[in-house]
Amino acid sequence: MDPSVPKLEVRDVTVRFAGLVALDAVGFTVEPGSVHAVIGPNGAGKSTCFNVLSGVYRATSGSVRFGDAELTALPPHRIAALGMARTFQNIALSPRLSVRDNLMLGRHRLTRAGFVSAGLRLPSARREAARHTERVEEIAAFVGLTPQLAMPVGLLPYGVQKRVELARALCMEPRLLMLDEPVAGMNGGERREMAELIIAVRESLGISILLVEHDMGMVMRLADAVTVLDFGRRIADGPPEAVQNDPEVIRAYLGA
Ligand code: ADP
Ligand code: MG
Repeated sequence: MDPSVPKLEVRDVTVRFAGLVALDAVGFTVEPGSVHAVIGPNGAGKSTCFNVLSGVYRATSGSVRFGDAELTALPPHRIAALGMARTFQNIALSPRLSVRDNLMLGRHRLTRAGFVSAGLRLPSARREAARHTERVEEIAAFVGLTPQLAMPVGLLPYGVQKRVELARALCMEPRLLMLDEPVAGMNGGERREMAELIIAVRESLGISILLVEHDMGMVMRLADAVTVLDFGRRIADGPPEAVQNDPEVIRAYLGA
């Protein structure tokens, strides 16, 4: 495991929207190097939780710590700079740009000089750009996107676009990777491929992965620990086998 990966601690996080408690004093801990899943039926608060962790929403109360850093009041770019990279439930790529250019944009937070706008005039900027290009190609190969590097993202099948999104998040060299419903809308084969890829990321990079997912089967195969939300409340937390057999979880999922 990468020794620089800190623990993520979510404590008593409440998020209120007008007239609605989307998260009600939710807490959990993502252990360094683990795959932690947050699951629950539609409307449970999964995306809200994700948006709080990545700084898109501000918690009404509670705290989120990543190692020594308190994230609660930080804007998204500061949270990303601490090494927390996310994907979106709906694809957020630039469809007319190539896979390579989308991945280069993912490296933006790591660039000192802003090499794209500097027009590559300085030798140091050119060397830096070459390093980034090399790393982008490595990550593309890891994710299985080498053949598509020059293709516009918008022309690729949905399952491949989701892989580009994952690759772009990896281009930020995260210490915690946050995936919002990575297999939503995918067919069986694409789901299996994505699951294998997530396992490969965890095993070869040693980073933590926080997975928000509706698909129970996927979570049971991948996760070391699972937090279950229902109507904004945490109804279970623990290893997948225990959570899967919890009567309250079964009730929430069956809607009984
Ligand atoms: P999930 O991702 O588990 O399906 P969400 O976190 O998207 O659930 O939503 C949880 C609840 O919060 C839902 O009732 C949803 O309608 C509400 N909600 C989410 N975002 C907002 C928002 N920006 N404004 C008002 N209500 C919201
Ligand atoms: Mg959601």
